[in-house]
Amino acid sequence: MTQAYVALGSNLGDPRRQLGDAFEALARLPQSRLLARSRLYRTPPWGVQEQPPFLNAAAKLETALAPHDLLDALLAIERAAGRVRDGERWGPRTLDLDLLHMDGVALHDGRLTLPHPRIAERAFVLLPLNDLAPELVLPGQGRVADLLAAADRAGCEALA
Ligand code: ATP
Ligand code: CA
Ligand code: CA
Repeated sequence: MTQAYVALGSNLGDPRRQLGDAFEALARLPQSRLLARSRLYRTPPWGVQEQPPFLNAAAKLETALAPHDLLDALLAIERAAGRVRDGERWGPRTLDLDLLHMDGVALHDGRLTLPHPRIAERAFVLLPLNDLAPELVLPGQGRVADLLAAADRAGCEALA
């Protein structure tokens, strides 16, 4: 079994419900166990400004799935949540599930890069990930708590 971290985001429809449903779907993944879920955070849009604020969270799993099989399972959960890929990068979405890190795994191919290459610059990922794993060291990026301390978290707030 390998520990894995997943980022959840939503800013269309009913984001709070979609994140709740996504955690339930993660808990039902084959050959896997949902070990922990972060708090929810309201965060400003990133990349494309003219869109609603996001709700973000993170999950810690242990899994026997291979990295690409876990990615496929995450993409299937997105589709079930009504995610439409219209080609606009970083646009609004009902659900985004990014595979952030799997212990001991570093890879880069046409479908999957691990660790996810844009964690260090994203408070909306680091805040929930820090709830789960402040001591985690992301190869090539650094320790989660240190990355968060250096990140711009303006406009991000934890929900009760
Ligand atoms: P970003 O990756 O910057 O957060 P995004 O989440 O908006 O952008 P998507 O359109 O959701 O990007 O995903 C595009 C593709 O990225 C996916 O189809 C997948 O093949 C690829 N990808 C590569 N590495 C990862 C990863 N670590 N987690 C999720 N998807 C990945
Ligand atoms: Ca993403
Ligand atoms: Ca994604």
